[in-house]
Amino acid sequence: MSLTGAYDGNNIFAKILRGEAPCVKIFEDDEVLAFMDIFPQSQGHCLVVPKNVEARNLTDFPAERLGPLFQRVQRLTRAVIAALSPDGVIVTQFNGAPAGQTIFHLHVHVIPRYANLPLQAHNQGKPADMEALKSQATRIAAALEP
Ligand code: 5GP
Repeated sequence: MSLTGAYDGNNIFAKILRGEAPCVKIFEDDEVLAFMDIFPQSQGHCLVVPKNVEARNLTDFPAERLGPLFQRVQRLTRAVIAALSPDGVIVTQFNGAPAGQTIFHLHVHVIPRYANLPLQAHNQGKPADMEALKSQATRIAAALEP
């Protein structure tokens, strides 16, 4: 079952958190690592991934860490708005494969929406241009409030 079961430490986000796989980082602290989504659904699509926890999804994440996690999601969302001037922002996460989850380490999506630009398919297509992702990450990081 993708919704329940044991945490698999070989998932790609666990590898990124351990430094075994690369990412285009936006910011990192004791609670989370935030980085660009490699198959962005729109320009500036980024992810907030909690550190030091074996949580497949929202249901097995420690309740006392939800506040710290979503404080950082809010901070990143504000920075995305300041840096990229989208017309709207989707903040979401999926639980279990039938719900759309493909990587089984809890993460929150921050997806800017631009009027008249369609949303790309979830977790499909070619990886984004790395230089474009780095440029977006730099702009978003520069817009982070203290
Ligand atoms: P989920 O489907 O689990 O909610 O979201 C997983 C997200 O991770 C997708 O949006 C997908 O594009 C992204 N993704 C998949 N593999 C990688 C990767 O290796 N690096 C990064 N940065 N994002 C990834």
